[in-house]
Amino acid sequence: MSVAVAPEFNTRVRRNEPLSRHTSWHVGGPAEVFFNPRDAADLAAFLRTVAPGIPIQWIGLGSNLLVRDGGIRGIVISTHGTLDELERLNETTVHAGAGVACARIARQCIRWGLGPAEFFAGIPGTLGGALAMNAGAFGGETWEHVRSVATIDRAGRTHARGRGEFRVGYRQVTGPAPEEWFIAAELSFERRPGAHTGEVRTLLARRKESQPIGEWSCGSVFTNPPGDHAARLIEACGLKGFRIGDASVSQKHANFIINHGRASAHDLERLIAHVRDEVMRAYGVRLEPEVRIVGVR
Ligand SMILES: Cc1cc2nc3c(=O)[nH]c(=O)nc-3n(C[C@H](O)[C@H](O)[C@H](O)COP(=O)(O)OP(=O)(O)OC[C@H]3O[C@@H](n4cnc5c(N)ncnc54)[C@H](O)[C@@H]3O)c2cc1C
Repeated sequence: MSVAVAPEFNTRVRRNEPLSRHTSWHVGGPAEVFFNPRDAADLAAFLRTVAPGIPIQWIGLGSNLLVRDGGIRGIVISTHGTLDELERLNETTVHAGAGVACARIARQCIRWGLGPAEFFAGIPGTLGGALAMNAGAFGGETWEHVRSVATIDRAGRTHARGRGEFRVGYRQVTGPAPEEWFIAAELSFERRPGAHTGEVRTLLARRKESQPIGEWSCGSVFTNPPGDHAARLIEACGLKGFRIGDASVSQKHANFIINHGRASAHDLERLIAHVRDEVMRAYGVRLEPEVRIVGVR
């Protein structure tokens, strides 16, 4: 049965939208219903019309998502190009919408003389995705800067939530309610009048040296196990360059898996499983995917 949408939104949702257009791996079957709200009020109005029980999946820039080839049943809400307000509230506090690109936060904080926010520059996702993942790089992590967040639930009600209401770990965040999604955050930084774009350029150059930037990937596929690096274990198994279909383990960084153009989500998922099995067999270490795998086969 197809998802019914209230008449006022019928012409604004996209049905069977290929999610390969919305993920950095460029794979993924269709979203049954795909909605890109104009703003938070529009989003709340839409959510109020969604019948209970219809699954809802959020997507930012799809840079940490493996959507299976069968696509996503129910509703996909995309924050791409929306919920993108970014303003300075006082000396050290910034308000940012969940759809703001992390790179924009890095750039704007430098202009405002605030930091450390440079680590956001190389994370090719939205603030919403960074909040959900506790994204981090080069020693910085998203939730180190969170003072509070605004969330929305499936009834379209918004909630102001303090930092202390969330359990935050390495690439893991658990909120007080299972079906509440981020619409904005207040982030705090230090005054760093000396911060400049040169630091961002240096960090991006370091990334380019060690990661296959520009190829279709999802960043690191696995989180690092305690006291070790997933990339080291994968490389030690001789898996660099190992290929299934049109997907392979990157030659440059073993924790990256590349879609060379024609890989399916199935190829990627099989390769992820193979890497995981080989590392377990050789080293007895269970690698946990950092990438979120969603949808139907
Ligand atoms: C080349 C490359 C380099 C990368 N480098 C890094 C890195 O250095 N550090 C790092 O941490 N990550 C890195 N990543 C992974 C990725 O960019 C981050 O995890 C990013 O935070 C994901 O943001 P997104 O908007 O793309 O989220 P998506 O991939 O769209 O979604 C990721 C998860 O967040 C959820 N989500 C998205 N928006 C919201 C919202 N508003 N409310 C609630 N949940 C939401 C989704 O449902 C999903 O579960 C890299 C990826 C690539 C491709």
